[in-house]
Amino acid sequence: MALTGQEITVLGAGIGGLTAALALARRGARVRVLEQAEALTEVGAGIQIAQNGMVVLRALGVFDDPPPAVCSQGVDLRDYRAGRLVMRLPPPAAGPTWYFHRADLIKTLARAAQAAGVNIELGQTAVAVSTVGGAACIHLASGREMETPLLIAADGMRGPGRAAVAGDTIAEFSGQVAYRALVPGQPGAPERATLTMAPGRHAVTYPLRDGKVTNIVAFQERRDWERDSWRDTIDAAEVRATFADFGGPVGQLFQRIETAHIWALYLHPVASQWHKGAIALLGDAAHPTLPYMAQGACMAIEDAWVLADCLTNDGGFAAYQARRIERVRRVVAAAGANAWRFHARSPMREIGQLGLTVAGRWLAPRYTWLYGHDVTSSPAL
Ligand code: FAD
Repeated sequence: MALTGQEITVLGAGIGGLTAALALARRGARVRVLEQAEALTEVGAGIQIAQNGMVVLRALGVFDDPPPAVCSQGVDLRDYRAGRLVMRLPPPAAGPTWYFHRADLIKTLARAAQAAGVNIELGQTAVAVSTVGGAACIHLASGREMETPLLIAADGMRGPGRAAVAGDTIAEFSGQVAYRALVPGQPGAPERATLTMAPGRHAVTYPLRDGKVTNIVAFQERRDWERDSWRDTIDAAEVRATFADFGGPVGQLFQRIETAHIWALYLHPVASQWHKGAIALLGDAAHPTLPYMAQGACMAIEDAWVLADCLTNDGGFAAYQARRIERVRRVVAAAGANAWRFHARSPMREIGQLGLTVAGRWLAPRYTWLYGHDVTSSPAL
């Protein structure tokens, strides 16, 4: 059964909301997206979309080939002091990861959704959502109330959707912060990411926009930054100093940082209930994850496909949750475990890292779990 003419409202025009809107519109639904922002922009930074996300985006016809992104040739693990190459991970067998500028991905998704008939309304902040009879109601900051037969709350980890469906959950500070920066140029091997592990810290870099810029995401164990914001800027000199002992090409990148953002990383449990009446949660609203598998957006993209499939085939929201929850739990747990694997804490770990330099070739196949190769090779379709 197609969703022909079915009216659906999506709250949030992030990667999850826009993909869901497009997937539902492709099945014939009349979709409206409400977004609090006045313009569709993302704070400039990169995002990796692995094969499991790309399969869905391609199936939805989001972009012509090639996508507006850099096709990864794999990941280089580097030791932090000298920046020596420890090992080279090839791209996953299932297919390569692509490095998008977030703004490019959002813009491309929005364009595809609008071309499919989705109506995106900006500047619409929901203060609450609720169920009324068999429908859902969105209470907007303007005082307006909108009823809709079906509401997909893709409003992220801090939106009102989660509280309405799953009740309030307490997020716990992970003790880790992330720094984000873009710097011009791309040193070292082009079209490859680097992963550099150090005591209490690690950094991931990858090229964006044909290698004209490099995206840096660096993580540090830091108990003194518990602000629940992800758009704070931080003095670039402080970031340069924090990673001053990083050598080689990655160290050079850090020394080029002029503007940086910081945000605290929180641990949220995966919601145990993803739907209530006419409302369903999608993406970070249901399952925020630490970013250490680079899978949060990919999981939101998979959710979108499965949701549209379940609504089309009469399985409804219950089937959607049942098909998604175990896979998502596994990815969120694996990302949490990577947090500690990536931070070479003890002297033994440092010695271990030296050992890896020597034994890199032998170990490489055994280290593919580091980057979630098993996850990317089993997409939701
Ligand atoms: P969001 O992106 O949070 O979008 C929610 C939308 O809803 C926003 O547009 C917001 O403005 C809107 N909204 C919120 N509240 C309201 C309201 N009250 N009214 C109206 N609108 C509202 N994932 C990957 O797959 N690959 C990566 O490489 C990767 N790297 C990451 C790096 C870092 C450092 C971090 C923190 C995350 C990373 N992620 C990555 C995770 C990824 O960014 C998220 O999982 C993904 O963006 C979630 O998308 P979403 O659409 O569910 O939510």
